[in-house]
Amino acid sequence: MDRITIDRVRLDELLNRERATATVRYPKSRALALQAQENMIGGVPMQWMEVWVGSHPIFFATAKGNRITDVDGNELIDFCLGDTGSMAGHSPDATVAAVQHRIGELGGITTMLPTEDAIWVANDLARRFGMPKWTFSLTATDANRWVLRTCRQLSGRSKVLIMNYSYHGSVDETIIALEHGVAKQKPGNVGPAVDPVMTTRVVEFNDLAALERELADGDVACVLAEPALTNIGIVLPDEGYWEEATRLTHAAGAYLVIDETHTFSAGPGGCTKAWGLQPDIVTIGKSIAGGVPIGAYGVSAEIAALISTDLDGDYIDTGGVGGTLAGNALSLAAARGTLEHVFTDEAFARMCELGERFRAGVQELIDRYRLPWVVAGLGARAELRFCAEMPRNGGVSRDAHDAEVEEWLHLVMLNNGILITPFHNMSLVCPTTTAADVDQHLTVLEVAVAELAG
Ligand code: PMP
Repeated sequence: MDRITIDRVRLDELLNRERATATVRYPKSRALALQAQENMIGGVPMQWMEVWVGSHPIFFATAKGNRITDVDGNELIDFCLGDTGSMAGHSPDATVAAVQHRIGELGGITTMLPTEDAIWVANDLARRFGMPKWTFSLTATDANRWVLRTCRQLSGRSKVLIMNYSYHGSVDETIIALEHGVAKQKPGNVGPAVDPVMTTRVVEFNDLAALERELADGDVACVLAEPALTNIGIVLPDEGYWEEATRLTHAAGAYLVIDETHTFSAGPGGCTKAWGLQPDIVTIGKSIAGGVPIGAYGVSAEIAALISTDLDGDYIDTGGVGGTLAGNALSLAAARGTLEHVFTDEAFARMCELGERFRAGVQELIDRYRLPWVVAGLGARAELRFCAEMPRNGGVSRDAHDAEVEEWLHLVMLNNGILITPFHNMSLVCPTTTAADVDQHLTVLEVAVAELAG
């Protein structure tokens, strides 16, 4: 297909127009952002919130389902959903009821004692992901951190292996990427204890020869990977990739850890269930408690047995795994309410159908306006990429980044009531998203690209 070239002068004009709109559309947020500078680093409760487009973040007042209302009264249709933390929708009724019952009627948020809900949730996660034994944390980052420690401990090996331009949370070992084929710590790695080059091997996703080569030394404790990359755009595995990658990992005596934190969007048991993956460990977090902090990891029976009989590792006190608030009654009540009543098979079927409706709609726009872009989908999520060919690995995907087009897209969406993920161009649907919401997103996108294409 003959594609247009983006006219940079026009893009610049359109971007400036959206910036100007943003300066008048959010006066109360603007005032709060100024006030917030006084006692918070960067004027935000957590510095990633500085990443939003515009000269200041939007402060929100209320959120329900897939709608957010900001402090200026603007309603946003939310396709960011807390970058997956709220994939269940904001404050789902069942999660709210479970939380209120737990902390109000029953009482007890954190006690260092288990609740019955934990048994239900572990059982449900085992059913979904096929891993029989689970441990809970407060974030996916912590789940990954504890798993890397556990894999090194059990294997007696020193290294972990990750995919280029993957993201698994603020985990020391993973702040590393390939630069011209050589693994180097990522620029801006904040105060590393050791250079991650010492702890980590990196290969491109979909590159089986590189995987085999980097496993050959026998020093890799585990491969930590998302089933499809989601943090550098969506990069899907080649046909048969995981079958062979799993075989190579196991042949080299390493464990396979699959991080389903984002790819849970693929279905009730994530990609692990949908694609029949055979990991040794599954990690997850973000959405499973409807937005209440939680993380979790599930291990095979073999690994569970090794942990239970490992006399050298201090898993039950200050040995580096665990946390006082982890596994608390609030997290687990919220997880039970969410998994039992919100993330049902029917909800996933609807979400995946709407994700596909959106992806197909974007593809139709790309074709009609001959845009030099592609769109990838993974169940309930879809992502627009500013390159003409679908990237097959993280390095190529990283190079497809176009800061100016991204800023314009995010601003034009925001100014027209559509919220997409700030870090990239991901749109995610939740159980209460409707076909009309998806069509509204496509309509706003169409008006925008029609202007850009000229
Ligand atoms: N794993 C993946 C795949 C993620 O995308 C993220 C966060 N974006 C994490 C783990 C870490 O999640 P959290 O920041 O909630 O700890």
